[in-house]
Amino acid sequence: AHETAHMWFGDLVTMNWFDDVWTKEVFANFMSAKIVNPSFPDVNHDLRFLSHYPGAYNVDRTAGANPIRQPLENLNMAGTLYGSIIYAKAPIVMKHLELLVGEDTFRVGMREYLSRYQFENATWPQLIDILNGLSEEDLKVWSKVWVEEPGRPIVRTKISLNEEKKIQTLTLEQSDPGNRGRHWNQWLSVLLSSSGSAETIEARLQEGAATVDGAAGKPVPDYILPNGKGVGYGLFKLDTSSKSYLLEHLHEIPDPMHRGIAWITLREEMLEGDVSADNLLTLGTKALDTETDELMIQRILGTMTGAFWRYIVPGKRGAWASELEGLFIDKMNTAESPSLKASFFNAYRSVALTEDGIEFIRSVWDQTHRIPGLKFSERDFIGMAQLLAVRRVPDATEILETQRSRIKNPDRLARFEFVMPALSQDRELRDTFFDGLATEENRAREPWVLESLRFLHHPLRAEESEGYILPALELLEEIQRTGDIFFPKRWLDATLAGHQTGSASEVVTRFLEQNPGYSPRLKAKILQSADGLIRASRILQSQ
Ligand SMILES: [Zn+2]
Repeated sequence: AHETAHMWFGDLVTMNWFDDVWTKEVFANFMSAKIVNPSFPDVNHDLRFLSHYPGAYNVDRTAGANPIRQPLENLNMAGTLYGSIIYAKAPIVMKHLELLVGEDTFRVGMREYLSRYQFENATWPQLIDILNGLSEEDLKVWSKVWVEEPGRPIVRTKISLNEEKKIQTLTLEQSDPGNRGRHWNQWLSVLLSSSGSAETIEARLQEGAATVDGAAGKPVPDYILPNGKGVGYGLFKLDTSSKSYLLEHLHEIPDPMHRGIAWITLREEMLEGDVSADNLLTLGTKALDTETDELMIQRILGTMTGAFWRYIVPGKRGAWASELEGLFIDKMNTAESPSLKASFFNAYRSVALTEDGIEFIRSVWDQTHRIPGLKFSERDFIGMAQLLAVRRVPDATEILETQRSRIKNPDRLARFEFVMPALSQDRELRDTFFDGLATEENRAREPWVLESLRFLHHPLRAEESEGYILPALELLEEIQRTGDIFFPKRWLDATLAGHQTGSASEVVTRFLEQNPGYSPRLKAKILQSADGLIRASRILQSQ
Protein backbone atom coordinates (compact mmCIF):
# COMPACT_ATOMS: atom_id res chain seq x y z
CA ALA A 1 0.00 0.00 0.00
CA HIS A 2 2.92 2.32 0.77
CA GLU A 3 4.38 1.92 -2.73
CA THR A 4 0.94 2.19 -4.32
CA ALA A 5 0.39 5.49 -2.53
CA HIS A 6 3.66 6.71 -4.08
CA MET A 7 1.95 6.63 -7.48
CA TRP A 8 0.18 9.79 -6.36
CA PHE A 9 2.61 11.12 -3.78
CA GLY A 10 6.00 11.02 -5.41
CA ASP A 11 5.17 10.12 -8.99
CA LEU A 12 2.08 12.11 -9.97
CA VAL A 13 3.16 15.03 -7.81
CA THR A 14 6.86 15.19 -7.07
CA MET A 15 8.62 17.24 -4.46
CA ASN A 16 10.31 20.34 -5.75
CA TRP A 17 13.57 19.83 -3.87
CA PHE A 18 14.99 17.54 -1.22
CA ASP A 19 13.89 19.77 1.65
CA ASP A 20 10.45 18.25 1.05
CA VAL A 21 11.60 14.67 0.60
CA TRP A 22 9.78 13.87 3.85
CA THR A 23 6.37 14.75 2.39
CA LYS A 24 6.16 11.86 -0.05
CA GLU A 25 7.23 9.34 2.60
CA VAL A 26 4.79 10.64 5.18
CA PHE A 27 1.94 10.78 2.69
CA ALA A 28 2.70 7.25 1.51
CA ASN A 29 2.48 5.95 5.09
CA PHE A 30 -0.52 8.10 5.93
CA MET A 31 -2.46 6.93 2.88
CA SER A 32 -1.40 3.29 3.20
CA ALA A 33 -2.69 3.26 6.78
CA LYS A 34 -6.03 4.54 5.49
CA ILE A 35 -6.07 1.80 2.86
CA VAL A 36 -4.91 -1.11 5.01
CA ASN A 37 -6.02 -0.50 8.61
CA PRO A 38 -9.75 -1.13 8.11
CA SER A 39 -8.92 -4.64 6.82
CA PHE A 40 -7.37 -5.52 10.19
CA PRO A 41 -10.02 -4.66 12.77
CA ASP A 42 -8.40 -6.89 15.41
CA VAL A 43 -5.23 -4.81 15.49
CA ASN A 44 -5.21 -1.87 17.89
CA HIS A 45 -3.90 0.64 15.34
CA ASP A 46 -3.88 3.56 17.76
CA LEU A 47 -1.79 1.60 20.26
CA ARG A 48 0.65 0.71 17.50
CA PHE A 49 0.81 4.31 16.32
CA LEU A 50 1.92 5.34 19.83
CA SER A 51 5.33 3.83 19.07
CA HIS A 52 6.10 6.96 17.01
CA TYR A 53 6.18 9.10 20.14
CA PRO A 54 9.26 7.87 22.05
CA GLY A 55 11.30 8.00 18.83
CA ALA A 56 10.18 11.53 18.01
CA TYR A 57 10.69 12.73 21.58
CA ASN A 58 14.16 11.16 21.71
CA VAL A 59 15.27 13.81 19.23
CA ASP A 60 12.81 16.60 19.85
CA ARG A 61 13.61 16.92 23.56
CA THR A 62 17.30 17.44 22.82
CA ALA A 63 19.29 20.63 22.34
CA GLY A 64 20.13 19.37 18.85
CA ALA A 65 16.55 18.84 17.66
CA ASN A 66 15.92 19.59 13.99
CA PRO A 67 12.69 20.71 12.32
CA ILE A 68 10.73 18.41 10.01
CA ARG A 69 11.44 20.72 7.06
CA GLN A 70 15.04 21.83 6.81
CA PRO A 71 16.72 23.95 4.18
CA LEU A 72 19.19 21.96 2.14
CA GLU A 73 21.77 23.94 0.21
CA ASN A 74 23.95 21.08 -0.85
CA LEU A 75 22.86 17.61 -1.90
CA ASN A 76 25.86 15.98 -0.22
CA MET A 77 24.34 16.91 3.14
CA ALA A 78 20.99 15.29 2.20
CA GLY A 79 21.72 12.38 4.51
CA THR A 80 21.64 14.64 7.55
CA LEU A 81 17.94 15.35 6.92
CA TYR A 82 16.88 11.80 7.70
CA GLY A 83 16.15 10.65 11.20
CA SER A 84 13.42 10.22 13.80
CA ILE A 85 11.94 13.64 13.17
CA ILE A 86 11.03 12.69 9.61
CA TYR A 87 10.09 9.09 10.40
CA ALA A 88 8.34 9.58 13.73
CA LYS A 89 7.36 13.21 14.29
CA ALA A 90 6.14 13.98 10.75
CA PRO A 91 3.43 11.24 10.81
CA ILE A 92 2.17 12.64 14.12
CA VAL A 93 2.08 16.17 12.77
CA MET A 94 0.19 15.00 9.69
CA LYS A 95 -2.48 13.52 11.97
CA HIS A 96 -2.68 16.87 13.75
CA LEU A 97 -3.19 18.67 10.46
CA GLU A 98 -6.07 16.38 9.50
CA LEU A 99 -7.61 16.81 12.94
CA LEU A 100 -7.25 20.57 12.79
CA VAL A 101 -8.91 21.15 9.41
CA GLY A 102 -11.24 18.15 9.66
CA GLU A 103 -11.19 14.94 7.66
CA ASP A 104 -13.47 16.18 4.89
CA THR A 105 -11.64 19.44 4.29
CA PHE A 106 -8.35 17.59 4.40
CA ARG A 107 -9.56 15.21 1.70
CA VAL A 108 -10.78 18.06 -0.51
CA GLY A 109 -7.43 19.81 -0.06
CA MET A 110 -5.43 16.74 -0.97
CA ARG A 111 -7.51 16.22 -4.12
CA GLU A 112 -6.96 19.82 -5.12
CA TYR A 113 -3.21 19.45 -4.49
CA LEU A 114 -3.02 16.31 -6.64
CA SER A 115 -4.98 17.78 -9.53
CA ARG A 116 -3.36 21.23 -9.47
CA TYR A 117 0.18 19.87 -9.41
CA GLN A 118 -0.20 16.63 -11.36
CA PHE A 119 2.85 15.79 -13.49
CA GLU A 120 4.60 18.71 -11.85
CA ASN A 121 6.54 19.54 -8.74
CA ALA A 122 5.11 20.98 -5.58
CA THR A 123 6.34 22.19 -2.22
CA TRP A 124 4.93 21.81 1.27
CA PRO A 125 4.00 25.53 1.46
CA GLN A 126 1.93 25.09 -1.71
CA LEU A 127 -0.10 22.36 -0.02
CA ILE A 128 -0.48 24.53 3.07
CA ASP A 129 -1.72 27.36 0.82
CA ILE A 130 -4.46 25.12 -0.57
CA LEU A 131 -5.60 23.91 2.85
CA ASN A 132 -5.38 27.42 4.24
CA GLY A 133 -7.89 28.58 1.66
CA LEU A 134 -10.31 25.86 2.71
CA SER A 135 -10.00 26.21 6.47
CA GLU A 136 -10.62 28.81 9.15
CA GLU A 137 -7.31 27.97 10.74
CA ASP A 138 -4.15 29.98 10.19
CA LEU A 139 -2.17 27.07 8.84
CA LYS A 140 0.86 29.17 7.95
CA VAL A 141 1.41 29.96 11.58
CA TRP A 142 0.65 26.34 12.45
CA SER A 143 3.15 25.04 9.90
CA LYS A 144 5.85 27.45 11.07
CA VAL A 145 5.78 26.04 14.60
CA TRP A 146 5.15 22.38 13.86
CA VAL A 147 7.01 21.85 10.60
CA GLU A 148 9.60 24.60 10.16
CA GLU A 149 10.80 24.61 13.76
CA PRO A 150 12.02 21.94 16.15
CA GLY A 151 10.79 21.22 19.65
CA ARG A 152 7.64 20.53 21.60
CA PRO A 153 5.59 22.41 24.18
CA ILE A 154 5.56 21.72 27.89
CA VAL A 155 1.93 21.12 28.85
CA ARG A 156 0.71 21.30 32.43
CA THR A 157 -2.72 20.82 33.98
CA LYS A 158 -4.07 23.07 36.71
CA ILE A 159 -7.07 22.12 38.74
CA SER A 160 -9.08 24.10 41.26
CA LEU A 161 -11.85 22.70 43.47
CA ASN A 162 -15.12 24.17 44.60
CA GLU A 163 -16.63 23.97 48.09
CA GLU A 164 -18.12 20.55 47.44
CA LYS A 165 -14.64 19.26 46.58
CA LYS A 166 -15.55 18.92 42.94
CA ILE A 167 -13.69 20.39 39.99
CA GLN A 168 -14.25 24.12 39.65
CA THR A 169 -11.89 24.71 36.75
CA LEU A 170 -9.46 22.55 34.86
CA THR A 171 -6.92 24.43 32.78
CA LEU A 172 -4.24 23.36 30.34
CA GLU A 173 -1.19 25.56 30.11
CA GLN A 174 1.58 25.39 27.58
CA SER A 175 5.04 26.89 27.67
CA ASP A 176 7.96 27.06 25.29
CA PRO A 177 11.06 25.24 26.56
CA GLY A 178 13.09 27.51 24.25
CA ASN A 179 11.65 30.59 26.04
CA ARG A 180 10.53 32.15 22.79
CA GLY A 181 6.86 32.29 23.61
CA ARG A 182 5.84 29.92 20.84
CA HIS A 183 2.42 28.30 20.99
CA TRP A 184 1.81 24.82 19.62
CA ASN A 185 -1.76 24.82 18.36
CA GLN A 186 -3.32 21.36 18.85
CA TRP A 187 -6.36 19.38 19.92
CA LEU A 188 -5.99 17.46 23.16
CA SER A 189 -8.27 14.88 24.66
CA VAL A 190 -8.12 15.24 28.39
CA LEU A 191 -8.71 11.97 30.16
CA LEU A 192 -10.28 12.14 33.61
CA SER A 193 -10.52 8.92 35.51
CA SER A 194 -12.19 8.39 38.83
CA SER A 195 -13.08 5.14 40.55
CA GLY A 196 -12.33 3.10 37.48
CA SER A 197 -14.47 5.01 35.00
CA ALA A 198 -12.70 7.17 32.49
CA GLU A 199 -13.97 10.02 30.39
CA THR A 200 -12.22 12.14 27.75
CA ILE A 201 -13.01 15.77 27.11
CA GLU A 202 -11.80 17.44 23.93
CA ALA A 203 -9.92 20.66 24.47
CA ARG A 204 -8.21 22.99 22.08
CA LEU A 205 -4.86 24.32 23.22
CA GLN A 206 -4.09 27.27 20.99
CA GLU A 207 -2.76 30.11 23.09
CA GLY A 208 -0.87 29.89 26.37
CA ALA A 209 -3.77 28.40 28.29
CA ALA A 210 -7.14 26.76 27.68
CA THR A 211 -9.97 25.92 30.01
CA VAL A 212 -11.29 22.41 29.68
CA ASP A 213 -15.00 23.12 29.32
CA GLY A 214 -17.02 20.27 30.60
CA ALA A 215 -14.72 19.40 33.46
CA ALA A 216 -16.44 21.73 35.91
CA GLY A 217 -18.59 19.95 38.47
CA LYS A 218 -16.98 16.56 37.93
CA PRO A 219 -15.58 14.65 40.88
CA VAL A 220 -11.88 14.98 41.61
CA PRO A 221 -10.25 12.40 39.34
CA ASP A 222 -7.79 9.74 40.47
CA TYR A 223 -5.64 10.85 37.60
CA ILE A 224 -5.65 13.18 34.62
CA LEU A 225 -3.88 12.43 31.37
CA PRO A 226 -3.80 15.65 29.33
CA ASN A 227 -3.06 13.55 26.25
CA GLY A 228 -5.85 11.04 26.72
CA LYS A 229 -6.08 9.77 23.15
CA GLY A 230 -2.38 9.76 22.52
CA VAL A 231 -2.59 12.13 19.56
CA GLY A 232 -1.27 15.20 21.39
CA TYR A 233 2.40 16.00 21.23
CA GLY A 234 4.51 17.57 23.95
CA LEU A 235 6.10 17.12 27.32
CA PHE A 236 3.02 16.41 29.41
CA LYS A 237 3.80 17.21 33.03
CA LEU A 238 1.56 15.25 35.36
CA ASP A 239 0.12 16.91 38.44
CA THR A 240 1.43 15.45 41.70
CA SER A 241 -1.55 13.32 42.57
CA SER A 242 -1.92 11.91 39.05
CA LYS A 243 1.75 11.04 39.07
CA SER A 244 1.62 9.17 42.37
CA TYR A 245 -1.63 7.46 41.40
CA LEU A 246 -0.16 6.21 38.12
CA LEU A 247 3.06 5.01 39.76
CA GLU A 248 0.91 2.88 42.08
CA HIS A 249 -1.97 1.84 39.85
CA LEU A 250 -1.06 2.21 36.17
CA HIS A 251 -1.23 -1.56 35.70
CA GLU A 252 -4.85 -1.62 36.93
CA ILE A 253 -6.09 0.71 34.17
CA PRO A 254 -8.38 -1.37 31.92
CA ASP A 255 -7.74 0.27 28.52
CA PRO A 256 -4.35 -0.72 26.99
CA MET A 257 -4.29 2.58 25.08
CA HIS A 258 -4.46 4.53 28.35
CA ARG A 259 -1.74 2.35 29.85
CA GLY A 260 0.40 2.94 26.77
CA ILE A 261 -0.01 6.71 26.99
CA ALA A 262 0.70 6.67 30.73
CA TRP A 263 3.91 4.69 30.20
CA ILE A 264 5.19 7.16 27.61
CA THR A 265 4.30 10.06 29.89
CA LEU A 266 6.05 8.53 32.91
CA ARG A 267 9.15 7.73 30.88
CA GLU A 268 9.38 11.38 29.85
CA GLU A 269 8.98 12.33 33.52
CA MET A 270 11.90 10.06 34.36
CA LEU A 271 14.05 11.73 31.71
CA GLU A 272 13.14 15.10 33.21
CA GLY A 273 14.30 13.81 36.59
CA ASP A 274 10.77 14.04 38.02
CA VAL A 275 10.15 10.31 38.41
CA SER A 276 12.97 8.11 39.63
CA ALA A 277 14.17 5.13 37.62
CA ASP A 278 13.66 3.03 40.77
CA ASN A 279 9.99 3.97 40.83
CA LEU A 280 9.63 3.19 37.16
CA LEU A 281 11.28 -0.21 37.60
CA THR A 282 9.03 -0.98 40.57
CA LEU A 283 6.00 -0.08 38.48
CA GLY A 284 7.35 -2.27 35.67
CA THR A 285 7.59 -5.30 37.94
CA LYS A 286 3.95 -4.85 38.98
CA ALA A 287 2.82 -4.18 35.43
CA LEU A 288 4.46 -7.30 34.02
CA ASP A 289 2.57 -9.39 36.54
CA THR A 290 -0.76 -8.39 35.03
CA GLU A 291 -0.07 -7.05 31.53
CA THR A 292 -1.48 -9.27 28.80
CA ASP A 293 -1.04 -7.12 25.70
CA GLU A 294 2.09 -8.32 23.91
CA LEU A 295 2.94 -4.95 22.41
CA MET A 296 2.66 -3.32 25.84
CA ILE A 297 4.86 -6.00 27.39
CA GLN A 298 7.55 -5.37 24.82
CA ARG A 299 7.45 -1.63 25.41
CA ILE A 300 7.57 -2.06 29.17
CA LEU A 301 10.57 -4.37 28.88
CA GLY A 302 12.32 -1.82 26.68
CA THR A 303 11.62 1.00 29.12
CA MET A 304 12.80 -1.11 32.05
CA THR A 305 16.07 -2.29 30.53
CA GLY A 306 16.78 1.26 29.37
CA ALA A 307 16.18 2.65 32.86
CA PHE A 308 18.21 -0.15 34.43
CA TRP A 309 21.38 0.51 32.47
CA ARG A 310 21.35 4.26 32.37
CA TYR A 311 19.25 5.93 35.02
CA ILE A 312 20.18 4.07 38.19
CA VAL A 313 23.62 4.24 39.82
CA PRO A 314 25.87 1.24 39.06
CA GLY A 315 25.90 0.37 42.78
CA LYS A 316 22.20 -0.46 42.67
CA ARG A 317 22.37 -2.64 39.58
CA GLY A 318 23.15 -5.85 41.47
CA ALA A 319 20.06 -5.66 43.65
CA TRP A 320 17.83 -4.76 40.71
CA ALA A 321 19.38 -7.49 38.55
CA SER A 322 18.53 -10.18 41.07
CA GLU A 323 14.93 -9.01 41.28
CA LEU A 324 14.49 -8.62 37.53
CA GLU A 325 16.21 -11.89 36.66
CA GLY A 326 13.73 -13.75 38.86
CA LEU A 327 10.75 -11.94 37.42
CA PHE A 328 11.79 -12.30 33.77
CA ILE A 329 12.50 -16.00 34.12
CA ASP A 330 9.12 -16.64 35.75
CA LYS A 331 7.36 -14.75 33.01
CA MET A 332 9.41 -16.54 30.36
CA ASN A 333 8.43 -19.93 31.77
CA THR A 334 4.74 -19.12 31.86
CA ALA A 335 4.52 -17.09 28.61
CA GLU A 336 2.33 -18.74 26.03
CA SER A 337 3.61 -17.42 22.73
CA PRO A 338 7.17 -18.14 21.55
CA SER A 339 7.65 -14.46 20.69
CA LEU A 340 6.76 -13.44 24.22
CA LYS A 341 9.04 -16.11 25.67
CA ALA A 342 11.84 -14.74 23.51
CA SER A 343 11.12 -11.17 24.65
CA PHE A 344 11.45 -12.19 28.29
CA PHE A 345 14.59 -14.19 27.61
CA ASN A 346 16.14 -11.22 25.79
CA ALA A 347 15.28 -8.90 28.66
CA TYR A 348 16.79 -11.44 31.03
CA ARG A 349 19.96 -11.58 28.92
CA SER A 350 20.20 -7.81 28.96
CA VAL A 351 20.09 -7.44 32.76
CA ALA A 352 21.70 -10.72 33.92
CA LEU A 353 24.41 -9.71 36.39
CA THR A 354 24.20 -12.01 39.41
CA GLU A 355 26.32 -15.15 39.55
CA ASP A 356 23.23 -17.32 39.11
CA GLY A 357 22.03 -15.20 36.25
CA ILE A 358 25.33 -15.42 34.42
CA GLU A 359 25.53 -19.18 35.06
CA PHE A 360 22.04 -19.59 33.63
CA ILE A 361 23.06 -17.85 30.41
CA ARG A 362 26.15 -20.03 30.24
CA SER A 363 24.10 -23.22 30.64
CA VAL A 364 21.81 -22.11 27.82
CA TRP A 365 24.81 -21.18 25.68
CA ASP A 366 26.59 -24.53 26.15
CA GLN A 367 23.24 -26.29 25.78
CA THR A 368 23.38 -28.13 29.09
CA HIS A 369 20.06 -26.40 29.77
CA ARG A 370 17.18 -26.19 27.35
CA ILE A 371 14.26 -23.82 27.63
CA PRO A 372 11.03 -25.54 26.57
CA GLY A 373 9.36 -23.66 23.76
CA LEU A 374 12.41 -21.59 22.80
CA LYS A 375 14.66 -22.33 19.86
CA PHE A 376 17.94 -20.50 19.42
CA SER A 377 19.70 -19.64 16.20
CA GLU A 378 23.41 -19.31 15.59
CA ARG A 379 23.04 -15.59 16.06
CA ASP A 380 21.48 -16.11 19.49
CA PHE A 381 24.39 -18.30 20.61
CA ILE A 382 26.87 -15.72 19.34
CA GLY A 383 25.05 -13.06 21.33
CA MET A 384 25.18 -15.16 24.50
CA ALA A 385 28.93 -15.83 24.13
CA GLN A 386 29.54 -12.11 23.65
CA LEU A 387 27.40 -11.25 26.63
CA LEU A 388 29.39 -13.64 28.83
CA ALA A 389 32.64 -12.06 27.63
CA VAL A 390 31.44 -8.54 28.41
CA ARG A 391 30.58 -9.73 31.93
CA ARG A 392 34.19 -10.87 32.39
CA VAL A 393 33.55 -14.49 33.25
CA PRO A 394 36.97 -16.05 34.03
CA ASP A 395 36.94 -18.28 30.95
CA ALA A 396 35.70 -15.57 28.56
CA THR A 397 38.53 -16.15 26.10
CA GLU A 398 37.78 -19.88 25.84
CA ILE A 399 34.08 -19.19 25.41
CA LEU A 400 34.75 -16.84 22.50
CA GLU A 401 37.16 -19.35 20.92
CA THR A 402 34.65 -22.18 21.27
CA GLN A 403 31.93 -20.01 19.77
CA ARG A 404 34.22 -19.07 16.90
CA SER A 405 34.82 -22.73 16.06
CA ARG A 406 31.07 -23.41 16.12
CA ILE A 407 30.06 -20.74 13.59
CA LYS A 408 29.14 -22.25 10.23
CA ASN A 409 28.00 -19.21 8.30
CA PRO A 410 31.12 -17.57 6.76
CA ASP A 411 29.78 -13.98 6.87
CA ARG A 412 28.85 -14.36 10.50
CA LEU A 413 32.25 -15.84 11.25
CA ALA A 414 34.02 -12.88 9.63
CA ARG A 415 31.88 -10.47 11.60
CA PHE A 416 32.46 -12.36 14.85
CA GLU A 417 36.22 -12.28 14.30
CA PHE A 418 36.13 -8.59 13.52
CA VAL A 419 34.26 -7.83 16.76
CA MET A 420 36.31 -10.18 18.98
CA PRO A 421 39.06 -7.73 19.97
CA ALA A 422 36.39 -5.31 21.24
CA LEU A 423 35.38 -8.02 23.71
CA SER A 424 38.91 -8.88 24.78
CA GLN A 425 39.69 -9.05 28.49
CA ASP A 426 42.99 -7.37 27.61
CA ARG A 427 42.63 -3.62 27.64
CA GLU A 428 45.62 -3.06 25.38
CA LEU A 429 44.00 -5.18 22.68
CA ARG A 430 40.82 -3.13 22.97
CA ASP A 431 42.82 0.12 22.76
CA THR A 432 44.64 -1.06 19.65
CA PHE A 433 41.35 -2.11 18.07
CA PHE A 434 39.80 1.27 18.77
CA ASP A 435 42.82 3.15 17.42
CA GLY A 436 42.53 1.08 14.26
CA LEU A 437 39.07 2.55 13.58
CA ALA A 438 40.78 5.83 12.70
CA THR A 439 41.82 4.17 9.43
CA GLU A 440 39.06 4.36 6.84
CA GLU A 441 39.40 0.81 5.50
CA ASN A 442 38.81 -0.57 9.01
CA ARG A 443 35.42 1.13 9.01
CA ALA A 444 34.30 -0.36 5.70
CA ARG A 445 31.82 -2.76 7.35
CA GLU A 446 29.78 -0.23 9.28
CA PRO A 447 27.41 -2.61 11.12
CA TRP A 448 30.45 -4.51 12.38
CA VAL A 449 32.07 -1.30 13.58
CA LEU A 450 28.89 -0.27 15.39
CA GLU A 451 28.55 -3.63 17.10
CA SER A 452 32.17 -3.41 18.25
CA LEU A 453 31.65 0.10 19.59
CA ARG A 454 28.62 -1.03 21.57
CA PHE A 455 30.73 -3.71 23.27
CA LEU A 456 33.66 -1.36 23.88
CA HIS A 457 31.27 1.12 25.48
CA HIS A 458 29.05 -1.39 27.25
CA PRO A 459 27.92 0.14 30.60
CA LEU A 460 29.95 -2.52 32.41
CA ARG A 461 33.06 -1.19 30.66
CA ALA A 462 32.14 2.49 30.68
CA GLU A 463 34.95 3.52 33.00
CA GLU A 464 37.61 2.06 30.74
CA SER A 465 36.05 3.30 27.51
CA GLU A 466 35.46 6.90 28.51
CA GLY A 467 38.81 7.72 26.93
CA TYR A 468 37.47 6.69 23.51
CA ILE A 469 34.78 9.37 23.49
CA LEU A 470 36.97 12.34 22.54
CA PRO A 471 38.81 10.62 19.67
CA ALA A 472 35.44 9.31 18.41
CA LEU A 473 34.11 12.88 18.31
CA GLU A 474 37.28 14.09 16.59
CA LEU A 475 36.72 11.50 13.85
CA LEU A 476 33.12 12.51 13.21
CA GLU A 477 33.72 14.93 10.32
CA GLU A 478 35.76 12.33 8.50
CA ILE A 479 33.09 9.72 9.19
CA GLN A 480 30.46 11.96 7.68
CA ARG A 481 32.61 12.36 4.56
CA THR A 482 33.48 8.70 4.13
CA GLY A 483 30.51 6.77 5.50
CA ASP A 484 26.90 5.94 4.78
CA ILE A 485 24.29 8.66 5.43
CA PHE A 486 23.18 7.13 8.74
CA PHE A 487 26.68 6.30 9.98
CA PRO A 488 27.56 9.54 11.83
CA LYS A 489 24.47 9.40 14.08
CA ARG A 490 24.86 5.67 14.66
CA TRP A 491 28.57 6.08 15.40
CA LEU A 492 27.67 8.69 18.02
CA ASP A 493 24.86 6.59 19.49
CA ALA A 494 27.10 3.52 19.80
CA THR A 495 29.81 5.64 21.41
CA LEU A 496 27.64 7.41 23.97
CA ALA A 497 24.78 5.03 24.81
CA GLY A 498 26.71 3.11 27.46
CA HIS A 499 27.78 6.16 29.48
CA GLN A 500 26.09 7.97 32.33
CA THR A 501 28.75 9.91 34.28
CA GLY A 502 29.34 13.63 34.62
CA SER A 503 32.89 13.26 33.35
CA ALA A 504 31.71 11.56 30.14
CA SER A 505 29.12 14.27 29.67
CA GLU A 506 31.81 16.94 30.12
CA VAL A 507 33.95 15.42 27.37
CA VAL A 508 31.12 16.15 24.93
CA THR A 509 30.40 19.64 26.27
CA ARG A 510 34.08 20.59 26.20
CA PHE A 511 34.50 19.26 22.66
CA LEU A 512 31.69 21.51 21.44
CA GLU A 513 33.06 24.50 23.37
CA GLN A 514 36.49 24.05 21.89
CA ASN A 515 35.17 23.75 18.33
CA PRO A 516 32.96 26.83 17.95
CA GLY A 517 33.05 26.74 14.14
CA TYR A 518 31.89 23.13 13.98
CA SER A 519 29.37 22.12 11.31
CA PRO A 520 25.91 22.97 12.73
CA ARG A 521 24.35 19.80 11.30
CA LEU A 522 26.94 17.57 12.94
CA LYS A 523 26.80 19.55 16.17
CA ALA A 524 23.05 18.90 16.22
CA LYS A 525 23.67 15.18 15.78
CA ILE A 526 26.12 15.21 18.69
CA LEU A 527 23.61 16.99 20.91
CA GLN A 528 20.91 14.52 19.91
CA SER A 529 23.06 11.49 20.69
CA ALA A 530 24.44 12.97 23.90
CA ASP A 531 21.03 13.87 25.33
CA GLY A 532 20.58 10.64 27.30
CA LEU A 533 24.10 10.92 28.67
CA ILE A 534 23.62 14.54 29.70
CA ARG A 535 20.30 13.75 31.38
CA ALA A 536 21.60 10.63 33.12
CA SER A 537 24.62 12.44 34.54
CA ARG A 538 22.43 15.30 35.78
CA ILE A 539 19.90 12.93 37.35
CA LEU A 540 22.49 10.72 39.01
CA GLN A 541 24.46 13.67 40.37
CA SER A 542 21.38 15.12 41.99
CA GLN A 543 20.70 11.89 43.89
ZN1 LIG B 1 8.41 5.34 0.37
